Amino acid sequence: MSMLGLPTYQDVVAASARLQGYAHRTPVMRSRLLDAEIGAELFFKCENLQRIGAFKFRGAVNALSQFDERQRRAGVVAFSSGNHAQAIALSARLLGMPATIVMPHDAPPNKIAATQGYGASVLIYNRYTEDRERIGRELAQERGMTLIPPYDHPDVIAGQGTAAKELFEDVGPLDALFVSLGGGGLLSGSALSARALAPDCKVYGCEPEAGNDGQQSFRSGEIVHIETPKTIADGAQTQHLGHYTFPIIRRDVDDVITATDDELVDAMRTFASTMKLIVEPTGCLGLAVARRMKAQIQGKRVGVIISGGNVAIERFCSLLAG
Ligand SMILES: *Cc1c(COP(=O)(O)O)cnc(C)c1O
Repeated sequence: MSMLGLPTYQDVVAASARLQGYAHRTPVMRSRLLDAEIGAELFFKCENLQRIGAFKFRGAVNALSQFDERQRRAGVVAFSSGNHAQAIALSARLLGMPATIVMPHDAPPNKIAATQGYGASVLIYNRYTEDRERIGRELAQERGMTLIPPYDHPDVIAGQGTAAKELFEDVGPLDALFVSLGGGGLLSGSALSARALAPDCKVYGCEPEAGNDGQQSFRSGEIVHIETPKTIADGAQTQHLGHYTFPIIRRDVDDVITATDDELVDAMRTFASTMKLIVEPTGCLGLAVARRMKAQIQGKRVGVIISGGNVAIERFCSLLAG
């Protein structure tokens, strides 16, 4: 941890050790067709094949495995209807502690069932009439539970950084790295690994065009808040970067570039047809932006983190048919 309380690459290294035996070391895949299309050597880090189907398992295990005895007994609480919920639920089960996941009443039933399937209790709240901050404070105060946020936490950031660390270890230095961006846990952690292992590698955050608060924040130097954006990239519908993620992104990331929903659907189709991979819309941000940056990455060695693969198959089909 640095003087500002920001995580460092040493924290990513420590996280790697904690993840041993819990997280998969996901494969790095290549595609000759995509190399030919873009004119670069592409290396895809497949976090869609991580446990729970997304990188978020890494940050969750790293955070929960550092709880002390009292925290373990009381358990963990998280607010999420997405991949963070499942990441916390499975990590808590593997580490033997109770988990409560607070979800909005209109969360998809299959997500609620998946989270309960991992052994977590699900607490439903009405997002129009109830205040989730108050619910969280009460759970924390009355039951002593520890709240783990989806991105703005040093242990979460350090855990997410282990995916890029593995990528550099497996393929060597890269000229550019493309990383999906929501609240910035994955991007800031990846940037810590890039700066340590491949100092000349350009690191790009890849964001949905409809929710470009990260790009605005990166370029203006202030955290910009937006309304929940309308995009198919549901893992990146965040309203703002975090107090830990933003300073790391400003310091260690080279730029933030956006992609449209249509470009995400094109990338989903390419992953399925060319690489036989099911990738959720948010997981397609890296490839969609790499395509946009084709001119700048000619002849380069390029990493792309496929951040997740959790999309209901019916939704996958209707997006491709749409
Ligand atoms: C959460 C998530 C993201 C965004 O990650 P942040 O750390 O919030 O930037 C990207 N892709 C997938 C699949 C996710 O689940």
